[in-house]
Amino acid sequence: MASDSTLPIHTNGVPPPPSSTSTYTAATLAIHADDSLNSSTDVAPALHVSTTFRYAHNPDDLVPALDEPPDSSDTNIPAPHVYSRLTAPNTSRLEAILSQLLNGKALTYTSGLAAFHALLVFLRPKVIAIGEAYHGCHGLVTLHHNLHGLKVVDLHDEAAWDAAGLGKGDLVHVETPVNPTGEAVCIRRLADLAHKRGAVLSVDATFAPPPLQDPFKEGADIVMHSGSKYLGGHSDLLCGVLALRSERVEEGWWEGMWRERLLLGAVMGSLEGWLGVRSLRTLELRVERQSGNAEKLVGWLGGLLGGGVEGEEGALVRKAVARVRHASLQKGEMGWLREQMPGGFGPVFAIYMTTPELAKRLPSKLKLFHHATSLGGVESLIEWRRMSDAGVDERLLRVSVGVESWEDLRDDLLQGFKALAGEE
Ligand SMILES: *Cc1c(COP(=O)(O)O)cnc(C)c1O
Repeated sequence: MASDSTLPIHTNGVPPPPSSTSTYTAATLAIHADDSLNSSTDVAPALHVSTTFRYAHNPDDLVPALDEPPDSSDTNIPAPHVYSRLTAPNTSRLEAILSQLLNGKALTYTSGLAAFHALLVFLRPKVIAIGEAYHGCHGLVTLHHNLHGLKVVDLHDEAAWDAAGLGKGDLVHVETPVNPTGEAVCIRRLADLAHKRGAVLSVDATFAPPPLQDPFKEGADIVMHSGSKYLGGHSDLLCGVLALRSERVEEGWWEGMWRERLLLGAVMGSLEGWLGVRSLRTLELRVERQSGNAEKLVGWLGGLLGGGVEGEEGALVRKAVARVRHASLQKGEMGWLREQMPGGFGPVFAIYMTTPELAKRLPSKLKLFHHATSLGGVESLIEWRRMSDAGVDERLLRVSVGVESWEDLRDDLLQGFKALAGEE
């Protein structure tokens, strides 16, 4: 096989792929960043189910596998697959695309929590600063506390950071936008505070995938995603992602994490990898639509709540809804927020109903919103949060906006409010 990168890699003459220094935009890379890993003439990727792969026939080409992780400086060299716990064709293609879209070399894991666990295992921090975040991430932090005494301090309490000795090798972890409100936290500020102390900053960016924000531009060292949400986008796969800032890759983090993943065994299955590639092709289209839909719905609800608008529509909304929360309503903070989220705000927002009973009943009145947990799929979801989070305000509904027409979603909510009013 030709190893000169200027030559077509494959016997069928596939031209050289976009390189990692490519000037193609994300929309193009989502379709083509994995071209070089297409080892057949198929246009749609093949699904490879083999767990094991033949070694090179030529004895001179035999390189013992564990000595050499795939070259971390180039996403476009097809890995010589050996065994699917190391690498496999479908997940390699997924990682090649993710590395381009996230602007940092990426590794995938079985789920978002598997990725966060892998991060904690790799960094082995003595102290972690963490604020409001996915309850499972807090669960993992507790697990690590029990395993080896990881100290946990509040993200917004710098005095507590210093009292706990947060410093070199420690971790500041922020989720933004944050579950369940969709409100954002300033990444740049936390990056500076962490780096000043020699600690690193990880950002759980699940709620605002590309093209909404790039946490590396704001100083993040690690960007984490639950790929089960927007990256997958169709509510049909579990996936976790860690992407690394280029300086951290140069320090050997990617190789280290790759070697540890081999031991943790938390690799995605090939079907999930295949589904992930299918999904990323349309990431930008989906997310821009979802973000726009959410901003319009929030604007509509917020306008009726705040503006004292006359008429039946305003009266129905004000009777049912007490408050709406979303990054687009963080009025006082638009300076850093516009810079941090240049592509638009996240497609998740929170509705606080006027009573817990109304929150519990609204989902049953809706025709277009499934009543279910999770988020990020093409279909709109609404969840009475009390179903999956015991500590939460019982008036809270979390909305994950899909790609339907926003006017239809608006009308569905409105008829839901009307149906509730009619029951009284
Ligand atoms: C869902 C979610 C996770 C966990 O991801 P899984 O893929 O379900 O393991 C972590 N963080 C956030 C913000 C999430 O929404």
